[in-house]
Amino acid sequence: SLKKHFDIPNKIPLFPSNQSVKAVDGISFDVYKGETLGIVGESGCGKSTVARMISQIISPSDGDIKFNKQNIVELHRNELKQLRKSIQMVFQDPYSTLNPRKKIGELIEEPLVVHKIGTKKERKEKVEELLETVGINKRFYDRYPHEFSGGQRQRINIARALALNPDIIVCDEPVSALDVSIQAQVLNLLRSLQQEFNLTYIFISHDLNVVRYICDRIAVMYLGKIVEIGTYEEIYETPKHPYTKALLASIPKESPFDDIDRIPLKGNIPSPINPPSGCSFHERCPFAIEQCTKDIPELLSNEGNNHLAACHVVNNKEENK
Ligand code: SF4
Ligand code: MG
Repeated sequence: SLKKHFDIPNKIPLFPSNQSVKAVDGISFDVYKGETLGIVGESGCGKSTVARMISQIISPSDGDIKFNKQNIVELHRNELKQLRKSIQMVFQDPYSTLNPRKKIGELIEEPLVVHKIGTKKERKEKVEELLETVGINKRFYDRYPHEFSGGQRQRINIARALALNPDIIVCDEPVSALDVSIQAQVLNLLRSLQQEFNLTYIFISHDLNVVRYICDRIAVMYLGKIVEIGTYEEIYETPKHPYTKALLASIPKESPFDDIDRIPLKGNIPSPINPPSGCSFHERCPFAIEQCTKDIPELLSNEGNNHLAACHVVNNKEENK
């Protein structure tokens, strides 16, 4: 089970010293080859931290991350370099991740140069091919990022992520900065690339409405923990956890998920420095019982399948039947 606690430096006077933020607190999940696993939650729930741990940008404080049976947390530098080819990342903001002084062709070539792949001529051919793959004319090789729209820049980022033939792409809010009409185009591109290159995606988003276009399974996170995980159908058609239901309630009315019981989300997310006792959702939950303030609910199924929820009320109810 994976943990990431950030120590708060004493220099920040807002907090007493020696406290840590439990950004991710004991989570565990599997990702299957060729699937898209969505990780959804409000900002600050720890989903980006999970993304950065999987991509080895940061290391967990505790726990294992296994990829093809290897624990990537324990890899040595050379092995890690190989692994970095297999796991690539696409970030939210296509503006900040592309160096404005470099031509887009050079930006896509960069990972190939870093990993010493191919001759100059071979790399140029590969970059041209990647540009066409993501729907950008290869004649634009010498242009600069500012000459492209937000959606095109995200395509350039995706081409860069594809350069090393990865197995997994971790997408952290890849369409959140884009207009809704452009979002659909980029999501469609990601879907067709997945089929073409047999990619596995871990798709991080705050938006259950975006995730439904692309994910096979979905994990819902709240305050550093997974509170529900299930298939697309299970999460959207028969959600169990009150927090998932509340998130679904924020999807616009005309959506096809209009007939689920909608519960409103009240109050704000509590501080991850001092999370509430018991179920960390209890202060915001309309169904909370006394047990919820004391015991941390385990992530389990009341049906004996892989649709898991961490909620006392959900899991007790079935037991008493
Ligand atoms: Fe609500 Fe209790 Fe379930 Fe937490 S455990 S979601 S507080 S009912
Ligand atoms: Mg984030």
